Amino acid sequence: PMLTAGAVEALLLCGSEPLKNTYVKKMVEGTWTGTMNLTEPQAGSDLALVKTRAVREGDHYRIYGQKIFITYGEHDLAENIVHMVLARTADAPEGVRGISLFVVPKVLVGKDGSRGARNDVKCASIEHKLGIHASPTAVMIYGDKEGAVGYLVGEENRGLEYMFIMMNAARFAVGLEGIALAERAYQQALGYAKERIQSRDLSGGDKAVPIIRHPDVRRMLMSMKAQTEAMRALAYVVAAAMDEAHHYPDKEGRARNQAFVDLMIPIVKGWSTETGIDVASTGIQVHGGMGFIEETGAAQYLRDARITTIYEGTTGIQANDLIGRKIAREGGATAKEVVKAMRAVEAQLAKAAGEDMAEIRAAFSAAVTAVEECVSWIVVTYGNDIKAVHAGAVPFLKLMGIVCGGWQTARAALVAQRRLSEGKGDKSFYEAKIKTARFYADHLLTQAPALRNTIVRGAAGVMALAEEQF
Ligand SMILES: Cc1cc2nc3c(=O)[nH]c(=O)nc-3n(C[C@H](O)[C@H](O)[C@H](O)COP(=O)(O)OP(=O)(O)OC[C@H]3O[C@@H](n4cnc5c(N)ncnc54)[C@H](O)[C@@H]3O)c2cc1C
Repeated sequence: PMLTAGAVEALLLCGSEPLKNTYVKKMVEGTWTGTMNLTEPQAGSDLALVKTRAVREGDHYRIYGQKIFITYGEHDLAENIVHMVLARTADAPEGVRGISLFVVPKVLVGKDGSRGARNDVKCASIEHKLGIHASPTAVMIYGDKEGAVGYLVGEENRGLEYMFIMMNAARFAVGLEGIALAERAYQQALGYAKERIQSRDLSGGDKAVPIIRHPDVRRMLMSMKAQTEAMRALAYVVAAAMDEAHHYPDKEGRARNQAFVDLMIPIVKGWSTETGIDVASTGIQVHGGMGFIEETGAAQYLRDARITTIYEGTTGIQANDLIGRKIAREGGATAKEVVKAMRAVEAQLAKAAGEDMAEIRAAFSAAVTAVEECVSWIVVTYGNDIKAVHAGAVPFLKLMGIVCGGWQTARAALVAQRRLSEGKGDKSFYEAKIKTARFYADHLLTQAPALRNTIVRGAAGVMALAEEQF
């Protein structure tokens, strides 16, 4: 499971040598799996409300509490399950600064690495869910009897800080989940559209034709294809920046890349998952009635995609992170650098020949202006009307996603045009890149100016009604 990687990273970054030696190798081998235990019934988006207790006992702690929605919290695929658990020690301060991180193995491990007795942690139930049925989601009870043995990771009260180190990777991975589901939904819809015979071609003939010939089906397929390609391209750019943030030769370069990654993570997570749901839903529409029938398989993508905007922080939480910590706090500095990079692409588009490139440039230019205006508005308004900015947070995340996606499709079109003029590579592939970027410009980038108005003016309606008026 993906969260095993998160648990391994937490141990490698923050764990003591004995903890690393005992757990990491087995987890990397896949002999043992890992979990992340943050959520409790009263503490979901707001982890300041975590209540699980940790009581010190010699070289370890006893853990007491309940965790819910724990992915792979219980299963019999591995010899042991290594739970990473957020809990509070007795004298911890209130809120997020009083949370510590513990390793709590399902089966206790001896000094020689041998497995011993069962720890006092048990799975109370496995949830029945809308989707991801192959991923068990468990309610976990810690310390029903003598208390579950837990080992502190790093220092007390720094648990959430450690979690945040891993958060980028986990949120990025969930963004990829959105992209992967969109790609599967597209492939399945495309296959069906080529085979399903229905209605005559608008340009003539008296026989029914494959539905891929009908403009509205084309529009649906192009929107699936264009958005999936845009999301994937953006994810690759961010993944490359993650590597540069670690390995760039100089310190400034590493810091610059890290700032870009930090800005982009909520966008890759929030936008790619919201769009993944839209694309999976469009995939069902391409199938007509068959899309609604389980055995077709299209419905599963929508059901599976539905969780991606919720776990690892809902879209609302991603958007809050984007406008608050990633933009307002630094006066929009990194966002303005991104706008600069976008304007450089716009300048290249202006020099490129042909109607497609001119149309892409026009839509992209207006979209970048929308981003620029919103960033300035957020920076100015955050301090004096924070609720207004938060009311537009998710629309702003969507705007950023759409425009960052258009930035990448425009770059792809420029490369494709150059390759075509050089007579290099796969002609049909490069032609399709330009046409896909054109579609993206006309159908997606054109939403940007409207979103700008929603963001800047939309708060009036959002908060206008008194609670009793609902
Ligand atoms: C299948 C599944 C697997 C999961 N796996 C794990 C796991 O392995 N480990 C783990 O610890 N957790 C896991 N979770 C929990 C998941 O991370 C939480 O459900 C998620 O963070 C949302 O918390 P919540 O359910 O309490 O919703 P709430 O926090 O109650 O949110 C309800 C609504 O309020 C909104 N909201 C809340 N606060 C704000 C705010 N400040 N601003 C704007 N909007 C806000 C949310 O966006 C949402 O729309 C899993 C959940 C599911 C369903």
